[in-house]
Amino acid sequence: MPINEILAFLPEPIRVGIAHIPSMITFDFGRYLIAASVIAAIVWIAKRGGGAYRQIQKRVASSADYRREFFASLRTCAIFVFVGIFIVAASQMGILYDIQGSYGLAIDLALFAAILLAHDAYFYWTHRMMHHPKLFKTFHRFHHRSVTPTPFAAYAFDIPEALVMVAFMPLWLFFVPTPATVITAFLALMIIRNAMGHAGLELHARWWLKNPLTRWISTTTHHDMHHSGNFNRNYGFYFRFWDVLMKTEAPEYEAAFAASVAKPEAETEQAETGLAAAR
Ligand SMILES: [Zn+2]
Ligand SMILES: [Zn+2]
Repeated sequence: MPINEILAFLPEPIRVGIAHIPSMITFDFGRYLIAASVIAAIVWIAKRGGGAYRQIQKRVASSADYRREFFASLRTCAIFVFVGIFIVAASQMGILYDIQGSYGLAIDLALFAAILLAHDAYFYWTHRMMHHPKLFKTFHRFHHRSVTPTPFAAYAFDIPEALVMVAFMPLWLFFVPTPATVITAFLALMIIRNAMGHAGLELHARWWLKNPLTRWISTTTHHDMHHSGNFNRNYGFYFRFWDVLMKTEAPEYEAAFAASVAKPEAETEQAETGLAAAR
């Protein structure tokens, strides 16, 4: 039976969802491939440009790690596209909000902040739940096979975890009429922060924890610690609020961050001697 005839049997909203597959493939696979590759390139350049001391772990990810993370992330993107068909269909049917255009910059920015805070809470609590001994194996063990994560681990989830992750979007759109531009900006920032969290090399400025605003924003070290032994600590994603509030942050986090960004002494001395000589 030709594909067109099969499609003709499907309800109209599902057909509209299917028609969106090419744009969803471009967006979901595209943003993963771009974010993970750009962050990996930045790490590669930083290591060769004198930033190798910022590598968080002594262990280096193996090529098997890269492969596993990459292919699992592609599978997650495929799940996002598949679920996306039903999200589009549900918005066609008026079950989910589908807002084009803008409410004006101020409201759009406020919505953007609100969706970040909501997703941060969603991530913290679902992540913490998936660490429950009864759920861990089915949902989250796969992600933790990356002990030394790379940017390609951003979507390295088993199928059940990918479904938990994708569920945030329809939940949000069920309650909040959000312009498509805000959703696009949110999904773009999410994958960038995700790839940065798994970079393996501390990408944040040395003063990050000294500034009263940035100190609440998570760092690469924060999530790296979660992968490398502190499995029951540092569940958060964008921010540290929940970990601090729920007392799940690794007590040695700030010291570990300081160690990640501390220049090795020999180098500092050399630089200082160089400076003195230049004077
Ligand atoms: Zn975890
Ligand atoms: Zn992770």
